Amino acid sequence: MKKIDDLSFEELERALVELGEPKFKAKQIFDWIHNKTVEDFEGMSNISKKTKEELSKVFEFTLGSIELKLESELDETKKYVIKFEDGNVVESVFLKYKFGNTACISSEVGCKMGCLFCASTKNGFLRSLTTAEMLKQIYLIQNDTKEKISNVVIMGSGEPLNNYDNVIKFLKLINDERGQNISMRKITLSTCGIVPRIYSLADEDIPITLAISLHAATQEKREEILPIAKKYKLDEILKACDYYVEKTGRRLTFEYIMISSFNDSPEDAEMLSKILKNKLANVNLIPCNYVKEANIKPSENLDIERFKRLLYDKGINATVRRELGSDINAACGQLRNNYLKI
Ligand code: SAH
Repeated sequence: MKKIDDLSFEELERALVELGEPKFKAKQIFDWIHNKTVEDFEGMSNISKKTKEELSKVFEFTLGSIELKLESELDETKKYVIKFEDGNVVESVFLKYKFGNTACISSEVGCKMGCLFCASTKNGFLRSLTTAEMLKQIYLIQNDTKEKISNVVIMGSGEPLNNYDNVIKFLKLINDERGQNISMRKITLSTCGIVPRIYSLADEDIPITLAISLHAATQEKREEILPIAKKYKLDEILKACDYYVEKTGRRLTFEYIMISSFNDSPEDAEMLSKILKNKLANVNLIPCNYVKEANIKPSENLDIERFKRLLYDKGINATVRRELGSDINAACGQLRNNYLKI
């Protein structure tokens, strides 16, 4: 059966017309699904019994629940393990920043990218998430925290550009003014650099922030930690990034995980500043979290600060990602792995 919460507003209107129902009901039903976040037709108190019966013959709801919640004692970060109908679990995070409440969501169950430092990929890829399953992560977090989410980062498990169509539909639905109405400018999508899809994204005309998981400043070093780097070369990614800025006018984020004695030397900073020169970009330096399967060591704080200063001296904006919820398995994919005992 089709899922009603996967439908765009226009698709919902069309579905109603096909069932012989008036189109205007779409507004009320959309409101029940995406604002009041009901999980069945019963709860839609201002919709007639007949309409609900007609709808329930063709549609059902995407079900998901919070299986586990960890609350940081250091800050207001909350991590969730969310379980879907087929038993698959993903993790999602609630982060409170001065600028707003942020949900970090997953786009796939597991991941096939195989990045050396990342826990999400250690158990491989299981399946893509549907549009509604991405929305669900936000709705469940909002209902649990009783806080409105204002910012979304697609930076949890999975490679969002490998689940392109569902992710684009998710972006349009979460942005819909008849639903959560989250501004595209407050959404960030992080990718390890799927070049053809960066071009497609630039052409979508949706002004989200694109974050590139760069992590190293040369082709050779990228290949050592990101297997996908062999397929999509660094210079191709940078060219695609230029196109993205040209089309959207949006500032890019380059994520750079700081790994001790691998990519944190003054020479590395020099290389990075060279490839990012004259780009409308901000570098996000990420203190690497330990992942037990990966034999990598986080950089020392002093080395991170030195790196940041060197970039700054070359005119490159850089910020160090504040570690939130470090007491609750904050590194990507770790909570899910611990939950699954893998
Ligand atoms: N596939 C996408 C999105 C998921 S990973 C991508 O590659 O961008 C997104 C981010 O998770 C990475 O850029 C990195 O910032 C973070 N991450 C993954 N493993 C980490 C670790 N061990 N320590 C700190 N951050 C990590």
